[in-house]
Amino acid sequence: MRSKSLNGGEPKAMKMKLWPDDWAPKPNISISTMKTYLECPRKFWYSNAPNEVKRQFQRQYKLERNLTSDNMLVGQIVDEVIKGDLKLYRAIRDWTSDLHHAGQGVLKEILKCSEEYLRVRDNKDARIPFEDHNPLERIYYGEDYSPIELDAKMNQVNRCLDIYAKSGFREFMEVHWEYEWQIPLPVTKRPVPWYFVGNMPVYASFDFIMYRPDHGYVIDWKTGKRTEASMKSAREQLHLYAGFLNTEWNVPLDNIHVGAVWLQESGMPEFEPTDVSFLNDIYRNLRDHFAIIETKFEEGTAAELLGARIFPMTDNDRFCRYCQYRSCSGYKKAIQKRREYDEMVAPDEE
Ligand code: SF4
Repeated sequence: MRSKSLNGGEPKAMKMKLWPDDWAPKPNISISTMKTYLECPRKFWYSNAPNEVKRQFQRQYKLERNLTSDNMLVGQIVDEVIKGDLKLYRAIRDWTSDLHHAGQGVLKEILKCSEEYLRVRDNKDARIPFEDHNPLERIYYGEDYSPIELDAKMNQVNRCLDIYAKSGFREFMEVHWEYEWQIPLPVTKRPVPWYFVGNMPVYASFDFIMYRPDHGYVIDWKTGKRTEASMKSAREQLHLYAGFLNTEWNVPLDNIHVGAVWLQESGMPEFEPTDVSFLNDIYRNLRDHFAIIETKFEEGTAAELLGARIFPMTDNDRFCRYCQYRSCSGYKKAIQKRREYDEMVAPDEE
């Protein structure tokens, strides 16, 4: 029995919760997709349009959709190494002996996948692969990493992993052996976790959950700096994952502790109990945005290729300049504007 349900009643019969067998129906929402929608509705559409519409997108948009930005690279490697470390301990009760080496291995795989993706880009008959890693945006656009840049990235990775190893986190896990450990599998093996809040499918792409019937922990690794904004966003995500743990495995919300691991600092989560009214506020906010997205989504799907018109481009150049969809005219316009500005403020050459 659940102690509390915030889901606004049971889902409709036709929309039974299907994870882990299925992907979330579209449209769905998460903190990050809501942010994408607010920054640029067109970007949301390129990334989330239903398959029947996506089939009509040009190949370059389909390719660009899968790219990972440069500033995600460190987090991606650290996340995979720590998950591997936990899986190893769970399987054989031994921790990874050389975390730096494991990090190098993950980097190699990501670079390999990015190189392969380039070949797909240049061969229009090649099938777009669905893999565990996403290709790096910079490599796709021909802005290769120099050895010095890669060393700097790996130094950041190693610093985070050293903090993790010395933090006492592993010892904390060892005394929680009797908990069920949940570590999401790669997307080729299992869909991204999600759940229904009423009739709204919500993504809950957690890093790590452990629970027993009466108690649970939700933990997320963070490789970025701890700022007011990043802490707020982490807290929102963790609470959504607590909602998932409550819905999926029936752990009472009152008995779920959530905590982010800030790997530039201490490496041990500062746990707090789930704040039910805070979670309710998040659901309310998501629901408001989801209602708009759902209506537009239906119109966009019905209009097929016209869908993009229903999801307009942002007029904020800042979002366009860092956007992965460089085939979009918004990107080209923003870069042109930036060039003109730079020329205007550049000192006259002698
Ligand atoms: S380039 Fe700009 S307008 Fe186009 S999808 Fe990206 S953010 Fe939106």
